[in-house]
Amino acid sequence: MAAANPLVHVDNVVKDFQGPAGVIHVLKSVSLEVNQGEFVGVRGPSGSGKSTLINMITGIDRPTSGQVSIAGRPIERMSENELARFRGKHIGVIFQFFQLLPTLTVIENTMLPMDFCRMWKPRERPQRAMQLLEQVGLADQAHKLPNTLSGGQQQRAAIARALANDPPLLMGDEPTGNLDSHTADKVFTLFQDLVAQGKTFIMVTHDVELARRMPRLIEVADGVLHEAAPAMATMPAA
Ligand code: ADP
Ligand code: MG
Repeated sequence: MAAANPLVHVDNVVKDFQGPAGVIHVLKSVSLEVNQGEFVGVRGPSGSGKSTLINMITGIDRPTSGQVSIAGRPIERMSENELARFRGKHIGVIFQFFQLLPTLTVIENTMLPMDFCRMWKPRERPQRAMQLLEQVGLADQAHKLPNTLSGGQQQRAAIARALANDPPLLMGDEPTGNLDSHTADKVFTLFQDLVAQGKTFIMVTHDVELARRMPRLIEVADGVLHEAAPAMATMPAA
């Protein structure tokens, strides 16, 4: 069911790193297509290259060879400046340790990508940020500093920030990895809602229970990708 124009197209990407004992072949010519509206899990042993794969797609790091296209645009042809702007508009990234700026309030953190990409007029930005904070259930925390919030609240703030410029693609590198299982479950439900609203989400997870709830699961092992059989729970919740 490959669409003519997948949102994410990873084509024969090789990524080598120079290790202390020589070159490490982390990704050995991997290819992947993700269509708009898909919710894709990525799992694999620690050190297998999951973060490396995510970094290739977000353009945080560049492949040794091969090509990555987002929305039909090959990102390796972009300069660092173009790529930063492109990423700001097209990709929202959510990290394990939130990476909120500690000296800015929650709403200021949420507005940062808007200030960078300037898709909304300055006077529209606070209102839009507040709407996003409402969407993630955090409107009442808008004017607090991140370190006064719980882990789950901080991750919600990071999700609001990732949504700032309404990007089609969301990427999470173990975004629930630093949350207790109850909070992780609630954040995961928020991700499912975003996909239901049309976002595309690619998410690394170690969590076996969450991986089970992914409609599509990619396994990274020995430098290659495998499509894992979907293990979606089909039973209604008890
Ligand atoms: P995962 O996210 O699956 O745990 P990573 O993608 O972070 O794995 O790392 C895959 C391998 O690449 C590991 O062996 C790691 O040590 C190595 N690696 C990752 N980034 C770098 C880097 N910048 N320089 C050298 N080696 C790296
Ligand atoms: Mg990792």
